[in-house]
Amino acid sequence: MVKYIEKEFKTIINKLKYIDSWFWCRYTLNPYNGCEHACIYCDARSEKYYLHPDLDNEIIVKKDVKEKLDKRLKNARTLLPDVVATGGVCDAYQPAEIKYQNTRQILEVLLKYKYPVCLSTNSDLVLRDLDILSKIAADTYCTVSFTITTFDDEIVKFLEPLASPPLRRIEALMKIKKEFPKIQTGVNLMPIVPYIEDSDENLEEIISKTKKANCDFILFSPGMTMRDSQAQFFINKLKNSKYKDILADFLNLYKGNMYVDGNYLKKIHKKLITLYKKYKLPCRAKRFIPNDYRKYNYIIAKKLLDQAYYNSISGKAWKRMQWAGLYLQNLKESILDVNARGDLLTLKNFNNKIIEFIKPYLKSKKTIDSFL
Ligand code: SF4
Repeated sequence: MVKYIEKEFKTIINKLKYIDSWFWCRYTLNPYNGCEHACIYCDARSEKYYLHPDLDNEIIVKKDVKEKLDKRLKNARTLLPDVVATGGVCDAYQPAEIKYQNTRQILEVLLKYKYPVCLSTNSDLVLRDLDILSKIAADTYCTVSFTITTFDDEIVKFLEPLASPPLRRIEALMKIKKEFPKIQTGVNLMPIVPYIEDSDENLEEIISKTKKANCDFILFSPGMTMRDSQAQFFINKLKNSKYKDILADFLNLYKGNMYVDGNYLKKIHKKLITLYKKYKLPCRAKRFIPNDYRKYNYIIAKKLLDQAYYNSISGKAWKRMQWAGLYLQNLKESILDVNARGDLLTLKNFNNKIIEFIKPYLKSKKTIDSFL
């Protein structure tokens, strides 16, 4: 029996040190702690998030979210409107939302203060809030994505026992795009659980259905992270399931580490690259571009971060380019002014190779805008 506990809390919105380069969010906001969907791979079980141990059965409902967020954004002297990831750690559209409507109330405030939004969920309850999400998309930017890692009923029952069935998720994406084309839609093909979800057939089915649903992007990440208590929970479930025979091979791919073996990663990336190209489906999402000094920093940072990502999945060097992009998003003046002073080499992680790469985008504002 799931228990809901209403609680006061101090911080309503968190500012990330670096903008997330998958979902392009600057802020995170979780309406609930704990998640009834009970996916057995869930990263929220990790000690990293300092959440309570009985995540599936004890849901902390944050109290007075609307008033608190409104007050925070009204008095925000140091915050600039930027993408808020709602429910990044614990699903914003889990069943508790039917009763408490914390997520809906949060969206109303974000709309009021013109904050863009990205939502990633495993539930089609998100359809209830399309009236608000479509207004946010028209005003600034809104992305809705679903995690979909298989359509196989048995695997779904094992991995994500209480989330919306994946077919309903893909139908929801189709509906959103059809009715509100301004909302960016996508599928998060992550995690891809080794030996359970990494077959050619499974990967192709997800990518082809994502394409048919007219989604704007698919994000993928082979393997799954195996961190402290989250890893232990997953291993215990695996041991007691019909998939127990893969346990030894599975563990061998990690050898006690948090991340999956590099050669395995390369192999699955290769398959995924062929597939996303075959279906002409972008593997990167579009980002929110603000209309202030950050504008050209964000556009150029996206070019750097996209390229760093393509390099990483093709096994080429990418770290420096990634850090150059991440730092650029924190710059307190426009890169165009830095360039005009001839100071690009003073920017963190910039070198001649990186400057060479961004040169075509720096010719003029008009040139950069054409890359939007
Ligand atoms: S829906 Fe997301 S947050 Fe909820 S249990 Fe599944 S993976 Fe965790």
